[in-house]
Amino acid sequence: MADCLFCKIAAGEIPSSKIYEDESVYAFSDINPQAPFHAIVIPKEHIASADDINAQNSHLIAKVFEAIAKIAVQENLEDGYRVVTNCGKDAGQTVGHIHFHVLARRYLQWPPG
Ligand code: 5GP
Ligand code: ZN
Repeated sequence: MADCLFCKIAAGEIPSSKIYEDESVYAFSDINPQAPFHAIVIPKEHIASADDINAQNSHLIAKVFEAIAKIAVQENLEDGYRVVTNCGKDAGQTVGHIHFHVLARRYLQWPPG
């Protein structure tokens, strides 16, 4: 998608700190980390939000979770981590390309604020 920040990051047009990449998925460090480890994991193909997951593209979401399991091993997240996707205004979604926050290396309150 022409004007999408995360499409540009996945394409390498905007620099980012890469954590993981495969043919379908790109993961990078969040610019404003909310935990000592804070990755953003995205499908390379543009999907706007969780509202837009469907039978045609859900395999890409499965790829994201396969990548997260690999990242957890790669980054030694054996004490646990949280995966979050914000969808829409009330959840605070600020970038319109679906992304999964992976937060770790501190105790994470439940329920979140
Ligand atoms: P949201 O609020 O949409 O769930 O999450 C968007 C996330 O993207 C935020 O945590 C924000 O810090 C991060 N972010 C926004 N712009 C950039 C950027 O240009 N580079 C990186 N690495 N992270 C970004
Ligand atoms: Zn995009």
